[in-house]
Amino acid sequence: MKETIYTIPVNEAFDKGTECAVCELEKDLESSNVGFVTGPALMEPGVRMEMNKKGFCRRHYTDLLGSQKNILGLSLILTSRYEEVMYELEKKTSSIYEKLVKAQKQQDKNRLSRELSDMLIKRFRSDSSSCFICDRIDFTMDKYFDVLFYMWKTDAVFRKKLTDSKGFCNRHTESLLEYAGREFKNSDYSGFITDLYVLFSTNWKRNEEDLRWFTKKFDYRYKDEPWKDSKDAVARFIQKIVGFIDRSCQK
Ligand SMILES: [Zn+2]
Ligand SMILES: [Zn+2]
Repeated sequence: MKETIYTIPVNEAFDKGTECAVCELEKDLESSNVGFVTGPALMEPGVRMEMNKKGFCRRHYTDLLGSQKNILGLSLILTSRYEEVMYELEKKTSSIYEKLVKAQKQQDKNRLSRELSDMLIKRFRSDSSSCFICDRIDFTMDKYFDVLFYMWKTDAVFRKKLTDSKGFCNRHTESLLEYAGREFKNSDYSGFITDLYVLFSTNWKRNEEDLRWFTKKFDYRYKDEPWKDSKDAVARFIQKIVGFIDRSCQK
């Protein structure tokens, strides 16, 4: 386990000293996966089939477009995915549409319109419910979590690095609490929850203090006082609440 490909990024993420090491891991995965999709993935038939099947969520389509790394590649991905999707959709909807335009009675027109509408809604919902990139990120994040917990348990140097760190954002604290609840028992469980609680509490207070000082600095009585660590307090506080990347609307 010690030498696996996952231990190095986990260690490096903690070395960055930011407000959440797990966010750092996620951020790297976001950019490397966008690069993968518009690069090597295009050359692998198996991967292309998977991309055709899953498509991408709204945020990752936006990221792919924003990266502008390989617009031709993106065009190829879109063509092959939507060729398949539209073929299936048209097979189901064209006969209903034919009947709708020929229908005479309003009652029939209403029923066929409803049928056509429901079919389209179902298709659009399913289109945004799967994402090739989100699935790849989730897969690797699970491995990172396994490694993080393993190292916390077996490597005293890593454990100190974790407890001396600036902690995690609330979203990832929640994920770590849930993971520990599933994977740890007895003294491992209580030990990890204790470490995590101390990290959360200490670092929340540190950020809160910086935020209060930042606010005070706008009061004329404090204008000549130093800023201390408060200049980026608002951004840090928000990162602590939601993390670096908003994955809540991913799919
Ligand atoms: Zn985070
Ligand atoms: Zn996605």
